[in-house]
Amino acid sequence: MALMEIKKIGDIVLKQKAEPVEVIDSEIRHLLDDMAETMYKAEGVGLAAPQIGISKRVIVIDTGEGLIELINPEIIRAEGEMMTDVEGCLSVPGITGEVERPSNVNVRFLNRRGKRQRIIAKGNLLARCLQHEIDHLDGVLFVDKAKNMTKVTR
Ligand code: ZN
Repeated sequence: MALMEIKKIGDIVLKQKAEPVEVIDSEIRHLLDDMAETMYKAEGVGLAAPQIGISKRVIVIDTGEGLIELINPEIIRAEGEMMTDVEGCLSVPGITGEVERPSNVNVRFLNRRGKRQRIIAKGNLLARCLQHEIDHLDGVLFVDKAKNMTKVTR
């Protein structure tokens, strides 16, 4: 496993639409391992492959309930009321902002063995995190959607 450099806002890779994964091989499983290590080290709750400079549709998430690895994730339903909450991003250090998103999502994806999986997340951090990370795969950052942005010093 290797710790990867996290790309920051302004890097072109963060604005690109990422490519679907065609074959889930050892290279992709290696990427998943590197992404998880990088996310945990940075104390993030999610990381998308473009954030380490790899324009592929791969995400890792851990909102405190264990690691979830998603390949080619797709939101097949977003519903419920719109909820506003504060978000930040490892690629946008020192800034938080309020983002409005649907409270519930139904996401389809492949796991590291190429098996079809589904997550239904309702009104929780996971639902928000899934939407934030999938946005990264489409070249969208939370600051593109946020209101009331705040500078944070750490
Ligand atoms: Zn982010």
